[in-house]
Amino acid sequence: MTDRQSRHRNAMRNLKSHVDEKVAAATEQRGLLLVFTGNGKGKTTAAWGTVTRTLGYGYRAGVVQFIKGMWECGERERLADDANLSVHIMATGFTWETQNRESDTQACQAVWADAERLLSDPEVYLVVLDEITYMLKFGYLDIATVREALANRPAEQTVIVTGRNAHRELLDMADTVTEMQEVRHAFNAGLQARRGIDY
Ligand code: ATP
Ligand code: MG
Repeated sequence: MTDRQSRHRNAMRNLKSHVDEKVAAATEQRGLLLVFTGNGKGKTTAAWGTVTRTLGYGYRAGVVQFIKGMWECGERERLADDANLSVHIMATGFTWETQNRESDTQACQAVWADAERLLSDPEVYLVVLDEITYMLKFGYLDIATVREALANRPAEQTVIVTGRNAHRELLDMADTVTEMQEVRHAFNAGLQARRGIDY
């Protein structure tokens, strides 16, 4: 065996024992809280990817979209026929264009009621709270309400929160936090958002 081969073999053996140890240490089974945040692209895409996984095993999923201005969405088009998926979109109010605090708050609270129903239903395996971070940032929804609903959700239920500038308390509560870091974005070079790619 060459030097290189034996070095590789040793490295793989070490890696395997390291991974085996970690697998053995991971004994708990329960629903998770995941936060996808940061300025880079991919937060909502990753959430829909996970919805697809959930539906793939015949589990139920609920998606709540907190920003109406981002309503066009290819994943929703594709998955809408699945009886195990329910989607709730903020009906009126907040978009990036119109910002009226009173109607925005009402619209937010209305869709939050849908979120609360999902968060108390043990049949729902995955709940996505898409762009909810902005609702907290603008004060349309308060963190104590969200914290309580998350803390009291069914033990087997997983929740994904997406959006930039996630509240510190959400980060502290989460089991998994991924920060999408922007290295470059086509938009800054004047390229338009692309159907079927960006939404
Ligand atoms: P995506 O929906 O593509 O996964 P995202 O959820 O991470 O993106 P948002 O902040 O929710 O990002 O932005 C929504 C829209 O803005 C999408 O069309 C997305 O492609 C685009 N976008 C995402 N990140 C950036 C960025 N850094 N600069 C400009 N546009 C962005
Ligand atoms: Mg998004």
